[in-house]
Amino acid sequence: MKRIQHADSMRSWAEEQRSLHKTIGFVPTMGALHAGHLSLADAAVRDNDLGVASIFVNPTQFSPHEDFNQYPRPLEKDLAKLEAAGIAAVYMPTVVAMYPRDYSTYVNVDNVSEGLCGGSRPHFFRGVATVVTKLFNAVKPHRAYFGQKDAQQCAVIKRMVRDLDMGIEIVEMPIVREPDGLAMSSRNAYLTSEDRKRALCLSRALFDAEKKLKKGERDGEVLMRGIRDTMRDVEIDYVALVDAETMQPVRETIRPVVLAVAAFLPTARLIDNIKFDPNTDDAGSQRGSGR
Ligand code: AMP
Repeated sequence: MKRIQHADSMRSWAEEQRSLHKTIGFVPTMGALHAGHLSLADAAVRDNDLGVASIFVNPTQFSPHEDFNQYPRPLEKDLAKLEAAGIAAVYMPTVVAMYPRDYSTYVNVDNVSEGLCGGSRPHFFRGVATVVTKLFNAVKPHRAYFGQKDAQQCAVIKRMVRDLDMGIEIVEMPIVREPDGLAMSSRNAYLTSEDRKRALCLSRALFDAEKKLKKGERDGEVLMRGIRDTMRDVEIDYVALVDAETMQPVRETIRPVVLAVAAFLPTARLIDNIKFDPNTDDAGSQRGSGR
């Protein structure tokens, strides 16, 4: 597995592979890899000639009070996991190379970035859209893999790729969960055992709502009231029913929707969601599929 640090070297490697007609599947990550990330890596390796991953803890998507410095960085373990998954090259740029002192250019995706996580983390999607653009420019992928765990992030990236004619296929992969239902996240490592137990109310609330949806409940207020009730022991950031493509609030489940929740626990802010398409009755949450 090649380790590449500089954008120029990454781009020349990618261009060489493309000239040999190899397809590149790309998995951007911030490291601290778990089975959720590895499900993306497996798909990238399986569906393309070459799988490329990046590890970069992106400062522009953290605000000053957030956990940029504390964010776990178990680099050698991460590299071993990516190598075992069959990844051909890992791109690991440095912060100073990505954002030199006079860095000035940012990508803003309006509307889709507003509300939900964009409401409580106003800087976040500008940082994500900017770094993903820079990573795409270096890695030059044909396809890029993102997790439904960050459903709004997927919607933002899809919109950005469409609006800016990037010509990259965005593949959204299902949420990988712990056997008890908790959505895997690098930030779960921050949880005390007490908080870990309380965190389970997020997935429990969503699974209850999913059962109601499958039984025919379509009223957003009823669904969200049930969720808030189940999440009464944590500090709720948001509970929202939104259109799966636009991320704008909806009252009723007529088109594909996302039911999304976020909560502050004392040691971490956690998010989770389920998708539901009333036309196919397909609630896209994967339970207990962790390895
Ligand atoms: P991160 O390292 O947190 O930036 O995540 C990198 C990618 O992994 C993003 O596309 C996430 O949505 C995805 N991801 C994170 N957790 C999960 C999970 N539990 N299941 C599936 N994908 C995930």
